[in-house]
Amino acid sequence: MAEKLLQHKHCMSCGKAVRTSEDFCSDECRDKHTGVLRRKRRQLLYLWIGAMVILVLAFFLTR
Ligand SMILES: [Zn+2]
Repeated sequence: MAEKLLQHKHCMSCGKAVRTSEDFCSDECRDKHTGVLRRKRRQLLYLWIGAMVILVLAFFLTR
């Protein structure tokens, strides 16, 4: 019970309480989280490429 009163953080992936020195409750959660980040970064890259393509097309179509 006393342990619950100690300072703690929450797992960045599933939200479970973890020690303040840790960011994740397990290696599985760590992998999952970094996987999500990598996917998000790739989505952002595709978004940028899409925006660039549209800009270039608009540039040539409106000339
Ligand atoms: Zn977790």
